[in-house]
Amino acid sequence: MRNEPRVAVGIMDRRPEVFGRLNGSFSANGSGPVSGPFSAKAEGKRVLLFDEANREICRSSSIKLRPSEDPTHSQARTVSEPTFTLFHVTVGNRFHWEKAEDQTFRGDLIFRTAGDGTLAAINEILLEDYLTSVISSEMSPLAPQEFLKAHAILSRTWLLAALDRKRAKGSFLPEKEPSPKGEEVIRWYDREDHDLFDVCSDDHCQRYQGITKIATKQTEEAVRETRGKVIAYKDEICDARYSKACGGITECFDTAWGERQVPYLASITDGPGLRPLIKTEGEASAWILSEPEAYCNTKDERLLEKILPDVDRETKNFFRWTIGYSRKELEEILGEKSGYDFGTLKEVIPLRRGPSARISRLKIVGSKRSMVVGKELEIRRWLSRSHLYSSAFVVKRETDRFIFYGAGWGHGVGLCQIGAAVMAARGFTTEQILAHYFSGAKTKKIY
Ligand SMILES: [Zn+2]
Ligand SMILES: [Zn+2]
Repeated sequence: MRNEPRVAVGIMDRRPEVFGRLNGSFSANGSGPVSGPFSAKAEGKRVLLFDEANREICRSSSIKLRPSEDPTHSQARTVSEPTFTLFHVTVGNRFHWEKAEDQTFRGDLIFRTAGDGTLAAINEILLEDYLTSVISSEMSPLAPQEFLKAHAILSRTWLLAALDRKRAKGSFLPEKEPSPKGEEVIRWYDREDHDLFDVCSDDHCQRYQGITKIATKQTEEAVRETRGKVIAYKDEICDARYSKACGGITECFDTAWGERQVPYLASITDGPGLRPLIKTEGEASAWILSEPEAYCNTKDERLLEKILPDVDRETKNFFRWTIGYSRKELEEILGEKSGYDFGTLKEVIPLRRGPSARISRLKIVGSKRSMVVGKELEIRRWLSRSHLYSSAFVVKRETDRFIFYGAGWGHGVGLCQIGAAVMAARGFTTEQILAHYFSGAKTKKIY
């Protein structure tokens, strides 16, 4: 057993200046009480903190503002607990919904500088408080409770694994994606770690909006009832991956990322039936063009709305999907996304597939060049203006048209979100759901 850790969440990063307000009394680096509006500025290797009247409160390479202890209150959290507000926090960084808003937080506020004239505003908070906010930001309170609990465990597992990795940093080198060589582009993407804090507050890590998004009773309960629980395999905290919909069979780790076998991320059938073996192109085609019974094969719109609140209703056909391009259109997309001119596009040939039929190596044949591309995310990126739903597809040529028939949404490794929500709606428990997707792994309470 360990203690509940605190997590340092980067709210704003690489800013020359940050403005905000302390709602209550705080101490700055252990000294005198401060409250009200403030500004923080980076100057060389220091951070300078000013009050409302622009008087300097303190300067240091790192400034920690901690809510002052109120001797008249007991240990219990009260409504009058000091909070702080940060102005103009960017939400949806780099996405089309990017906007700025004011956000309020509980816990400590820390300023650190990278030494390049910019600073980061960091919220240090107890892990379970952080999780309550994350689950409230990412999940609809209307989703089935066992699904919310499974997600709370997933988020906690991801975070603790990231904290452990950060602590171990220096003792091992993270797996690097290989660089392109010759006529082959095989790459994958993983999160890079942050330097000044543990996790950021955007979708890059997990979306976190402080107490701005008030937690609902359901999401709060999901976190409280799973307090300290993670998914572990032989005492090791799991690398708990998840995606939207597997398409009926989940995928192996190495189809999407590095060349290694992760036992608890083995491929499973996402349903009560037995899965077919997919070894040949004929078998892949038969699987993708069929509509097998599977947990994620659902058209239950009311359930989907509850688990995918942000996704527009257009995206209903994720279990099996079709997209057609004219040859010219696909040539244009390929040129733009890959940066290579293929000339006249002739053929798209799958060279290697994983157990869910997702392609990890794809050969693209053009009049000017032929190339092999992988892994699954890069393939999806090259063949669509945004991203193909998945790399589990078969291509049919009709004179000057290429038609992609596909299965599933996302990399398909680990937990299938839509499948998990359907299982929860059918009465499976959180433990059963997690054991279904993470073979041989067990939930374990670590604090
Ligand atoms: Zn991040
Ligand atoms: Zn599934």
